[in-house]
Amino acid sequence: MAAPKVAVVGAGVIGLSTALCITETCPSCSVTVLSDQFSPNTTSDIAAGMLIPHTYPGTPIHMQKQWFKETFTYLFAISNSAEAAEAGIHLVSGWQVFKNAPKEELPFWSDVVLGFRPMSEAELQKFPQYRFGQAFTTLKCDCPPYLLWLEKRLKATGVQMYTRKVADLWELHSEYNVVVNCAGIGAHQLVGDEKLFPIRGQVLKVHAPWVKNFIRDGDGLTYIYPGIHRVTLGGTREKESWSLSPDPGTTKDIFDRCCSLEPSLQRAQDIKVKVGLRPSRQSVRLQREVLSQGGVKLPVVHNYGHGAGGFSVHRGTAKEAAHLVGECIAALQGSSSRAKL
Ligand code: FAD
Repeated sequence: MAAPKVAVVGAGVIGLSTALCITETCPSCSVTVLSDQFSPNTTSDIAAGMLIPHTYPGTPIHMQKQWFKETFTYLFAISNSAEAAEAGIHLVSGWQVFKNAPKEELPFWSDVVLGFRPMSEAELQKFPQYRFGQAFTTLKCDCPPYLLWLEKRLKATGVQMYTRKVADLWELHSEYNVVVNCAGIGAHQLVGDEKLFPIRGQVLKVHAPWVKNFIRDGDGLTYIYPGIHRVTLGGTREKESWSLSPDPGTTKDIFDRCCSLEPSLQRAQDIKVKVGLRPSRQSVRLQREVLSQGGVKLPVVHNYGHGAGGFSVHRGTAKEAAHLVGECIAALQGSSSRAKL
């Protein structure tokens, strides 16, 4: 079989990282990324990019932990390299605070982040409305720079990237041997997945360079995440809302909530409002499928539905998707050599 041709649909953090993992695990593959949007116009560009996992109720915890650990290890190495600034990856320390005792004293990811510990009484004095807290150091991706860095690495390995809206995965069967579906919320229409739904998120990106620590209310709704250039203030979680228009009332509410956690934000400047749709599911869809029409087969690997935690697990799920692509290619090679006998 000649160099297997693999198409990756989608150019958010999942599509780009999956394409990169495929080039690493299958150097003989010819990989193409097809997407109707690239950075800066994807959901991944809106995200805060904090490595604090979201929990997928339908995925075993040991698997989620493995994905998170692989992602953390990968990005930690980048943060310790000369690439860190260009890739937009940096360590950030801070606090997750709770009004009531947290459900889990030790979240499953507590031994993956660095220095996880209960907050001291002195630290808690900064948050008079809160009674409990956890302090730790994690990683943050500044999302548009990280996506551009991934694109640059892909181009350097010869990956082609084309702007193209795919209406049906089957339309790719005559051009590619394997198709990888990383369409995020677009998979709702692309493969008719009714289990996939949007959770709308509105955030503010502000200039407040004096804010160096992250602060997150344990309910996950209010957060302050400092990046290299801007601070992300959040947020909202609106299930089944497809609206991409910013809501001015929500903007004020987010700003007020964040100022009550960090009063110095009153002086924040250059406030930009962004909205994104988290591609949500009970579990990430990470599996092989074979499409078939009139005796012709097209192996597909799905990797979508990362909800509120795509950045936190992207490298782990990309590696698994690349492994599944390898299995598809092995199956194709097996059937083409059987056909020659
Ligand atoms: P996307 O980035 O949406 O990419 C999908 C790609 O597929 C796009 O390029 C799109 O153009 C393309 N596409 C779709 N349909 C088609 C089609 N038919 N044909 C061709 N191309 C198609 N996660 C974290 O881990 N940490 C955070 O701090 C964090 N903060 C967030 C804050 C907000 C406000 C939001 C909205 C999300 C946040 N997330 C966070 C979640 C994270 O953004 C997502 O999990 C992640 O971006 C999903 O990536 P994706 O590549 O699957 O989707």
